[in-house]
This record gives sequence, C-alpha cells and structure tokens, in this order.
Amino acid sequence: MNPKLLLEQYGLDAKKSLGQNFLHDPNVLEKIVSLSDVTAQDTVLEIGPGTGALTEVLARHAGRVVAVELDTRLEPILRARLGEMSHVSLHFGDILRTNVRALLDTERFLVVANVPYYITSAILRHLLENDTRPQRLILTVQLEVAQRLVAKPNDMSLLSVSTQFYATSRIVMRLNPAVFYPRPDVTSAVVRMDVHPRPLVEVPSETAFFSVVRAGFSQKRKQLKNAVGDGLHMATDEAAVMIERAGIDPRRRAETLTLEEWAALTRAYAG
Ligand code: SAM
Repeated sequence: MNPKLLLEQYGLDAKKSLGQNFLHDPNVLEKIVSLSDVTAQDTVLEIGPGTGALTEVLARHAGRVVAVELDTRLEPILRARLGEMSHVSLHFGDILRTNVRALLDTERFLVVANVPYYITSAILRHLLENDTRPQRLILTVQLEVAQRLVAKPNDMSLLSVSTQFYATSRIVMRLNPAVFYPRPDVTSAVVRMDVHPRPLVEVPSETAFFSVVRAGFSQKRKQLKNAVGDGLHMATDEAAVMIERAGIDPRRRAETLTLEEWAALTRAYAG
C-alpha cells in the first residue's frame, strides 16, 4: 500500500530527522529482495521497517524476518500489516543500541534494509565491527556512500577501508528519488556487501588496524608520515621509518593505499 496514504490514514507524517523516506514502487521492492538471494532457510534482519513495505516482500521469501524500528508511532501500521505472520517479529528500539546476536539468537543471518541515511556509517560499524557479522548485507544508501563502499585505491576513505576489510561490495542498482515518499534530495543506490568469513588481510589485531587507518585518514591533505605520526602520537621521522618498514613511501596520501598496504602498516606498527 502507498506509504503516503497509509500515513495519512493513521494521521502521521514522515519524520525527516529519522531519515524517513519510504519506498513505494513494488517493482523496486521485489528487485531488492531478489538481489538479496533470500531463501526460506534465511533469517533476515531488517533495520527500519517503516510502514512495512519491504518487510512484507521479505516475509514472502525468508524463513524468518526480524525488524527493528525506532519510531513507535509506526507500531499500529506495522502490527496491522505484519502482526499475523508468525515468522515476522517486530522490535521497537534503536538498532545502534540493539545486541543483534542476542535478538536474533543465531549467528547466521542477512541484513536487508533501506537504512536511515543519517546513521549509515554507524550502522555499518555496529554490524561489522562485531564478533557476529551478517553473511551479507543488501542496503539502500545514498549513492555517494555506495561509491565510497566500492572505492578503489586513489579514492579510498576511512569508510572504504574499514568496510572492505570485512566485505566485498558492489552497487547492484541505482534508485531515482521518485521511488521514495517523500523524495530524498539525493540519488540512492542498492549495495550488496558479501561478508568474508575472515577479514581478507592478516593483522595482529583489529583494534590496531583501525587505530592505524583512523590515524592515516585523520588529516586528509597531509602525507602519510604526518597524518600517521600525529594520529598515533609519534614523531614524524619515527612514523616515516615505520611506514618505510612496511614497504610504503611515507610521502603518499591515505586515499592511495590498498587494503594490503594498510595491513602491512599495521604489522609494522603492532607486529
Ligand atoms: N524500510 C522502509 C521502506 O523502505 O519504506 C523505511 C525506510 S526509511 C529510509 C528508514 C527507517 O529507519 C524509518 O522507518 C526510521 O524510522 C527508521 N530508523 C531511523 N533511525 C533508526 C534507528 N536508530 N534504529 C532503527 N530504526 C531507525
């Protein structure tokens, strides 16, 4: 059902502050679920079911759907639409404060969501920097964020490196603002992220890896030796020696490094 009419019927409006842009094109919803390869064996976590349009399609394909929604105003709509389905459970709360492992009671799950854009990075960190990670994620995000997820060396950012450490991402569909109500100001894209059973590169610890990467990207325009030196509280010369030990020219900039080079730098730092 059209989200605009549904909201009107319940006397509600879409809250911009909660990133509420509801998908209403049935073809787009079907396509997202088909690109997710969800089967009757899968447990799917949906973040922000909204008025339940995507949830309803997911429920037709998945063995189990668990949806977490922050906005309790939407509860009557969601209960009316999905409450009768025994394999769908609705939880009201903040996904960033939800222990996903405890909620789902399984280590094998997928995430399919049209995420609230204001917390996309925080959601990715919450789901990936965790002992129990999803097998894959199919997320509707801002196109600009999707491009950062799939970026290659020379265009890398903190988000690119930290997600590519865990998953291989591809943009599988672009979405025109017209397929949402209300229309967002930006173009969107659906990204499929296939999570590796183990990170692709060897590092002594994930904490050390993220400290080094964060330091590297802490000062965008600076050469690696300055950014890493400042970020890790080392003298620039000392940082330069460490970076050379990893086989990297210390004058390079963070956006040019490959994942393997970040791993080598972490090993030089903490190995
Ligand atoms: N899935 C619906 C759809 O595709 O039409 C709605 C997507 S809308 C972009 C994002 C949804 O996330 C909204 O329903 C919003 O209320 C919800 N949301 C916002 N912040 C949240 C949070 N911290 N935890 C859980 N849900 C949140």
